[in-house]
Amino acid sequence: MPGSSTRLSCKPTRTRIEPTLATDPRPPTPRHPRGYLISSFYGLHRSDFPIGDDSTPEACDQRGGNHHHHHTVHFGRNKMSKFIVHTDLRDRFIYLILILAAALSSACVTPLSVMQPSSGTLDNATADSILSRFSDDVSEPDSETDFACAVDFNALSFVDNAQPAHFLRSGDVGTYAGSANIASRADFDAVMATPGYVKVVNSITWCGGFGANIIGCATIDSTSMAVVRWPGSGEGSLWAHEYGHTVGLPHRSNGTAIMNPTLNGNQDEVDSAECGAFISRATNNPLNHSGIDTGAASAGSTKASRESDFPSSHDFELSDDMDIVDFVSETFVHGTPAHLAEKFEGPENAKILAAMLADDREAEHWGNIVFTLGVIGGTDSVPHIIDWMDRMSSTKMDWTAVRQISAGMMGLGYLGNRTGDTQALSYLAEGAYPRTSRDEEQNLMRGAIAQAAAVGIAVLGSSKALTLLEDLEYNQNKQPHPHTLMAFDELFELHQEVQEFGVHNSLIH
Ligand SMILES: [Zn+2]
Repeated sequence: MPGSSTRLSCKPTRTRIEPTLATDPRPPTPRHPRGYLISSFYGLHRSDFPIGDDSTPEACDQRGGNHHHHHTVHFGRNKMSKFIVHTDLRDRFIYLILILAAALSSACVTPLSVMQPSSGTLDNATADSILSRFSDDVSEPDSETDFACAVDFNALSFVDNAQPAHFLRSGDVGTYAGSANIASRADFDAVMATPGYVKVVNSITWCGGFGANIIGCATIDSTSMAVVRWPGSGEGSLWAHEYGHTVGLPHRSNGTAIMNPTLNGNQDEVDSAECGAFISRATNNPLNHSGIDTGAASAGSTKASRESDFPSSHDFELSDDMDIVDFVSETFVHGTPAHLAEKFEGPENAKILAAMLADDREAEHWGNIVFTLGVIGGTDSVPHIIDWMDRMSSTKMDWTAVRQISAGMMGLGYLGNRTGDTQALSYLAEGAYPRTSRDEEQNLMRGAIAQAAAVGIAVLGSSKALTLLEDLEYNQNKQPHPHTLMAFDELFELHQEVQEFGVHNSLIH
């Protein structure tokens, strides 16, 4: 499949009716006429095709659709009728041909451009297999409650031909310049603003707030998403989940829903409303009224993110029978929820976690384990955490190890805040100044860990911690270190928040 799936015949572009946004880096405006054109074709009411609203179950399949939603209409009836009057027969004819061609030629395709840092190792074939899994998760009905997500042209009384949702790579996997560590809001906004829809990044310690073990982040209703590499079958689900946020979807607690905020290998369900959102940007979906180009030429989201734009890890619910081992064995897409980890406080659980940290069979979960141990542990947990971190960083690290060690740094900050442990403080203070290596990639990794150590310092919340941050800023200004560019305004803000309101809920929004 590599190389063959880049250009799709079903894309009805470059006509007067559908202006291509390929060269326009701005977010699309809602003033897109296609919804009205379709309406005028089929004699449907304009409220059936809400302009500017991407979540249209109607676009997907009539079975799940509710045709009596009330949607915000972005321009008035007068303007609309004026528009229809100006739509001449020739345009209608062209559009009719385009829809017919799209319906007959190929599946319901959303092309996605994929970008990675210059040091990234994702090749086209691997991206294709991730997207193939992504497509299967969305389109294949895996249970009675799982919706078969497809564009049903029959729903338009047009062609009896339901086409399963497909997400395909657009162009080769490209590279972007700049930091691939999202360690602050500034980093997030910068990565999102680079061209491309899917951004593979090295690490994420900020997604609407600082947090540990974040593997994906996207603002709700946007045109760009960040994911770390997540080897194994879950990577397609991770991409599908973040894509779902970009098309406006919130979390859903159903354990097998793609929009569930954890990954357990079974996230493959969408309901009809989610399906409508998932296919809303398909190029051959006549109801792709957002007009968003998700392909190779697409620009990232350029608007600065706001707090309310982000999905929350708080959406995860702790079940009554969940114990500490279950908890740390979860994969939290948007980070380990500290406020839930707190509920396991107690020396018995700390003992269990310390044992898991020394057990290589638990390596996959070490990020959650070390962070949770920091959240619930006492002073006697500090040596366990530090020994583990020293062991992890003594060998040649990979990015998985970096994310886990970063979680340990933040956990230490949490522990130091609660216990006032001075060893935690000095370890963080040292960790914020990385030793340099001759290996450039290792330098990037050490820089990412140093950034997490700075977050740990901020989380300490003490006046000593404030001094440490000020020293760090002073030294960085004196001798700028390209691998540890920290967003000090955000770190001081975090420190102040912790000082004023306590450590609870300071991490992971
Ligand atoms: Zn999410």
